[in-house]
Amino acid sequence: MAADILLITPPFTQLNTPYPATAYLKGFLNTKNISSFQCDLGIEVTVELFSKKGLAQLFAAIDTTGTFSENAQRIIALKDDYIHTIDAVMQFLQGKNPTLAHQICKRGFLPEASRFAQIEDLSWAFGSMGIQDKAKHLATMYLEDISDLIKECIDEHFGFSRYAEKLGRTANSFDELYAALQKEYTYIDSILIKILEQRIKEVQPQLVCLSIPFPGNLYAGLRCGQWIKQHFPAAKIGMGGGFPNTELRSLSDARVFEFVDFITLDDGEAPVENLLQHIKGNKSREELKRTFTLVNNKVVYINNTACTDYRQGQAGTPDYSDFFLDHYISAIEIINPMHSLWSDGRWNKLTMAHGCYWGRCTFCDISLDYIKNYEPLTAHILCDRMEEMIAQTGQNGFHFVDEAAPPALMRSLAIEIIKRKMVVSWWTNIRFEKVLQETCVCC
Ligand code: SF4
Repeated sequence: MAADILLITPPFTQLNTPYPATAYLKGFLNTKNISSFQCDLGIEVTVELFSKKGLAQLFAAIDTTGTFSENAQRIIALKDDYIHTIDAVMQFLQGKNPTLAHQICKRGFLPEASRFAQIEDLSWAFGSMGIQDKAKHLATMYLEDISDLIKECIDEHFGFSRYAEKLGRTANSFDELYAALQKEYTYIDSILIKILEQRIKEVQPQLVCLSIPFPGNLYAGLRCGQWIKQHFPAAKIGMGGGFPNTELRSLSDARVFEFVDFITLDDGEAPVENLLQHIKGNKSREELKRTFTLVNNKVVYINNTACTDYRQGQAGTPDYSDFFLDHYISAIEIINPMHSLWSDGRWNKLTMAHGCYWGRCTFCDISLDYIKNYEPLTAHILCDRMEEMIAQTGQNGFHFVDEAAPPALMRSLAIEIIKRKMVVSWWTNIRFEKVLQETCVCC
């Protein structure tokens, strides 16, 4: 599986479905015949940690002479129950063992600690029929209890869907994050680096691209970059995504480049293509697009404006190959059905448009590229891409991750789906528009 580019989503983003940024880039790179391999190290670390072997090692790593809360003491006392149930619970949350729901709902099967004390009236939330959802909620609380234990006794940075988020949030000064990165590996770092090493050896990339959408996966991304620079210096490291796009636009701290070689802003297609050509010696540094790098120890921003971005229709279909799609877990943390859409179910992710059709909210940074530059796809292209993705992933649920989906396009999409007789579920974020009341196609 050697490839020119290794695309990495560092821990943690989301556990129910892959964060789509690398799938978008891989889809684009396919159109250019550039070989790439992608991995979501978040789900890979999670699966390693929440396994029989992983929990046995975790409990063994706890210094039992320490002073812990009553809650942690309870979980430690019940460690055998956790170790013996974890594989079955993970398989259940991965959708591989649905009948376990009955056992989970009886409440004698899973060990319970403080998260279960906060559980609301389950029959009110799920009725007597919603046994799968009820069991998912209980299993999520069980994982949250273990997560509390990890946080208190092993690794203070741990959290589901985020890691060391507090350090990422203060990254505008970088001091705290930099200091944390000079320390020894945390427990989670050690698992992460073991998996990263395996991937790097398998793929032997020339360029590693770290996708950093949130502050909660910045620290782990920089840990990856740090390890690659020390142990695999032949590869160059790029970083991009929502976090740099919003927080690093005025970057001046050269220390960031001890962990990465390049940081690209906004759409990744043209910048990553140019970066690879530059690394291969086919393009000069001056030809890089929207890219920060270090020149003579100074941070410089290079933007070759002669190189234009790709249009939405040229970006290819997101490619979900390489991911361990059957490892993702459907969790229900909050009972509210709208909230559970985010964490429950394996949604294919697409966007209907680049940018926001409205672009006028006063509280929104409408100067940012991903808001300002509005470019909708057509319903026809969207349905083509949906069909390709269903064939690849076996999933027919779609989450359109637009900031605000354009009403006219939603209507055309619904009509095109009906015309093609596609069996799909889809959801998205909208602005409440009067036109939605007037043009509702479902009634
Ligand atoms: S609808 Fe959303 S993305 Fe569009 S301008 Fe308003 S806040 Fe920004």
